[in-house]
Amino acid sequence: AKGSGRNMLEVFTPEMNQQVSERLLMEVRLRDALKRQEFELYYQPQYDLGRNCLSGCEALIRWNSPDGLVMPDQFIPLAEETGLIIPIGTWVLEEACRQGAIWNRALATPVSVAVNVSAVQFRPALVNEVRGALDRTGFEPEQLVLEVTESVLMSDIEGSIRLLEQLRSLGIRIALDDFGTGYASLAYLKRFVLDKLKIDRTFIMGIPEDKDDVAITSSIIDMARHLNIITVAEGVETEAHCEFLRKAGCNLAQGYYFDKPLPAEVFSQRLQ
Ligand code: C2E
Ligand code: CA
Ligand code: CA
Ligand code: CA
Repeated sequence: AKGSGRNMLEVFTPEMNQQVSERLLMEVRLRDALKRQEFELYYQPQYDLGRNCLSGCEALIRWNSPDGLVMPDQFIPLAEETGLIIPIGTWVLEEACRQGAIWNRALATPVSVAVNVSAVQFRPALVNEVRGALDRTGFEPEQLVLEVTESVLMSDIEGSIRLLEQLRSLGIRIALDDFGTGYASLAYLKRFVLDKLKIDRTFIMGIPEDKDDVAITSSIIDMARHLNIITVAEGVETEAHCEFLRKAGCNLAQGYYFDKPLPAEVFSQRLQ
C-alpha cells in the first residue's frame, strides 16, 4: 500500500492535470454553446447521378465558438461521453426539419435532408424525438433520412431491428453510414430494413487505380440494387470518381467534387 501511494502521486503528472481541466473547460463551453445558440448546420448537397440533378443534402453540425469555427470531430466525442449529444441531437433534428420544411414549401420537387444520429441517441426515446420534430416543423417524413453506422446497429441487433421498424413506421428513411468500415455482415442488411447505403469515402478514394476498391465499390452497388437499396457514394472528389460511379450504377453522390458542406443560405441558392 505504501508503494502504491507513491505511484498514485506519480500518475497525476502536471500534464494530466492540464488535460483534465481542459476537458472540463470544454464541457462547460459545450453546455453554454447550446444555450447561446452557437451551433449551426451546414448542408452538403447530394446529386442524383442518373438524372443529373440535386436530390437532397446531409446536415453537418458546426460550432461557431468564441474562438472560431469548430468541426464536429473536435466536440462530438466529448458530447457523446457527457450525454450532451442528447440535447444537441434534438436541436439538430429540429433545425434540419425546420430548414427542410422551408425549402420544400417553395420547391416543386422536394429535397431530402439527412441527419446523423450517434450511438447514444439511438434508443427507443428517439422515436418520439423524431415524431416531435416532424410535428412541430411540418417537414414531410418521407424527406427525412436518419444516418446510423454499422457499429450503432450491431451493438444490440434485436433492439436495433425493432427501433428501425418503429422509426420507419413514422414514414422516414434510414441510411447506413460509412458502409464497409464496420462489422455488419451482409446477412444483416436483410434484417435491418434500410433505404440507403452510404459507401465509405475510403473505398471511393482508391477509384479507379486501386483494383480492390473498384471491386468492393462495384459489388456494394450491385448488391444494394438487388436488395432495392439506394446507394450514396461519399467523398466523391474527382471527375474520375464520378464517371466510374455513374457507369457502375450508383444512385447518389456527395463530395467536394460537387460541393463542400454549405451554410443554409448558400445551399438555398443551389436550389434555385
Ligand atoms: P460523416 O457522417 O461521415 O460525414 C461526412 C464527412 O466527410 C463530413 O465531415 C464532410 O464534411 C466530409 N466530406 C464530405 N465530402 C468530402 C470529400 O469529398 N472529401 C473529404 N475528405 N471529406 C468530405 P464533417 O462535417 O467534419 O463531419 C465529421 C463527422 O462528424 C461526420 O462524419 C459525423 O460522423 C459527425 N457529425 C457531423 N454532424 C453531426 C451531427 O449533427 N450529429 C452527430 N451525431 N454527428 C455529426
Ligand atoms: Ca453521415
Ligand atoms: Ca459517412
Ligand atoms: Ca487496396
